[in-house]
Amino acid sequence: MAEQGKGRKERRRPDLDTVYSINADGSRNFLHPADVSGRWQVLKNLVFMVLLLVYAALPWLMIGGQPAVHVDLPARHAYLFGLSFTNQDFYLMFFVLTGIGFGLFVATALWGRIWCGYACPQTVFMEGVFRKFERWIEGPRVERIRRNLGPPTAGRFWRKLLKHVVFLGGSYVIAHVFLSYFFPPRQLLHVVTGSPALHPTAFGWSMFWTAVLYFDFAWFREQTCLIICPYGRLQSSLIDQDTIIIGYDERRGEPRHKGRDEGGDCVDCYRCVEVCPTGIDIRNGLQMECIGCTNCIDACDDVMRRLGKPPGLVRYDSQRAFQGEPRRPLLRARTFVYAALGLLGLTVAALSAGSREGFQATALRQAGMPYLLEGDRIRNLYTLQLQNKGDRPSAYTISLTSGDRPGLELILPQPVVRLDPLEDGQTPLFLYLDRALYAGAFPLTLSVTDSLTDEVKHLDVQFRGP
Ligand code: SF4
Ligand code: SF4
Repeated sequence: MAEQGKGRKERRRPDLDTVYSINADGSRNFLHPADVSGRWQVLKNLVFMVLLLVYAALPWLMIGGQPAVHVDLPARHAYLFGLSFTNQDFYLMFFVLTGIGFGLFVATALWGRIWCGYACPQTVFMEGVFRKFERWIEGPRVERIRRNLGPPTAGRFWRKLLKHVVFLGGSYVIAHVFLSYFFPPRQLLHVVTGSPALHPTAFGWSMFWTAVLYFDFAWFREQTCLIICPYGRLQSSLIDQDTIIIGYDERRGEPRHKGRDEGGDCVDCYRCVEVCPTGIDIRNGLQMECIGCTNCIDACDDVMRRLGKPPGLVRYDSQRAFQGEPRRPLLRARTFVYAALGLLGLTVAALSAGSREGFQATALRQAGMPYLLEGDRIRNLYTLQLQNKGDRPSAYTISLTSGDRPGLELILPQPVVRLDPLEDGQTPLFLYLDRALYAGAFPLTLSVTDSLTDEVKHLDVQFRGP
């Protein structure tokens, strides 16, 4: 705990050469970001609340009798805002992800790490839930540090204990919100209230995700953004001099000076560093560790207000503007290119989804046995595989539409196949012909009709004999 453990004079300061949250010996420098308030915090908290509601509500929301968002991994199908998808539609994910990915690129090219600061689930849960509980239970930064550095006391013990119980409970709830995207929420409630022995798989997954989330939010925290997430590393290739980022106005702030009326406007109060959840100093320039959380803007604006100086020493602006050059239009060539590629992906996904078949039918000849002789008759056996790709139950009727001839008999043990939404089914199909009438292989066409939509599929098969 280098941040807390050293005297003020010798305190390590964030620099551009080291990761501040890791000490020189590789140990963790656990951060204690200070509280901050201001207009960006109000906006962020509103966004967090809306997103938390959306995360929790989506699996419960029903569209057309199905969950708004649901992925059934064992059954290999999914529902997405009224559309149903099977495993055969998986290729659409490529186009959807391409669209979403380039959408994120557009946002980054325009406003830097806006996703990380406002909408990434890691930030939403860490800053919008866990950090708030930590502050309520353990107090503000100074108190937390003082208590951690001081001798063990009963107060420190019960606060830590309560915090970790709350963190575990929070992780447990979030793990189940996450699982409700894969497991119908009502069934999940039933599982949660039942014995683990009755649902060992669901219990195992819920415990696994609870442990992962607890580890992340109680200890790993900003390291997820710094070490695991690749998006921060992409930042430098997605932004340019005209991207709106959070930065420090060096021209106005320097030379920084403790005196209110001397030097630049920065009084080197260190407040922008104390509130930073990744422990960096924004005055060192744009850094990969900056998640665009706006804490330093509100912190510095507050300092400026107290000093009677205009806010905005730390603010949203382009690097060009921070260097004193005129701002250029926000929409630039790269934003149009990213937007066009994103739209292309989403358009292909939408068109492909709109033109998907309502059901799928395939006739497969019995493997390794093209025909069988049964007395004076030849038998061909097919298996008809059906999949209802719609979101309503339907019945499928099978008939022979061409190739019929005297002596040919079609036997269907199950002439009508009923399937639930996204259900697979199969039925055998026998074709018989008198051996004396067989003069060589001949084609046949089977038809499968969807009783709900009247959609018909024609399947070409071949009758074979000796
Ligand atoms: S909060 Fe503002 S005044 Fe204080 S150190 Fe940071 S930039 Fe300088
Ligand atoms: S530098 Fe400012 S915006 Fe970036 S992570 Fe730190 S406090 Fe947030």
